[in-house]
Amino acid sequence: MGANYATPDAACPDCGHTQDQRPLRSGGWIRLEPEPQLPITAVPEQHRWFITADGYAVDAHGNEPHCYIAHHRVCSRRPHPKHMDPIFTAIWLRNRARDGLAID
Ligand SMILES: [Zn+2]
Repeated sequence: MGANYATPDAACPDCGHTQDQRPLRSGGWIRLEPEPQLPITAVPEQHRWFITADGYAVDAHGNEPHCYIAHHRVCSRRPHPKHMDPIFTAIWLRNRARDGLAID
């Protein structure tokens, strides 16, 4: 990281929980849901994130057995990810329950 990078807060501005904040090769940052790491078979390829040896988040391409997903898709303060695969709803529900929020 160069001196020109300002590391944004790893805590999500919506739910306040600390995420696995990672730089992108394209610039910018992404908050990844820190756990669980998911089997890649549960996550559609376009939503898989991997962490490189030098700490970057990279999407889609990886041959590791587990991957991460973007936090914003499963944040407890975001709408139900109905249009996503079931794994997203499962983690969103977990996050809602953790934060004591209603599940409808
Ligand atoms: Zn959040």
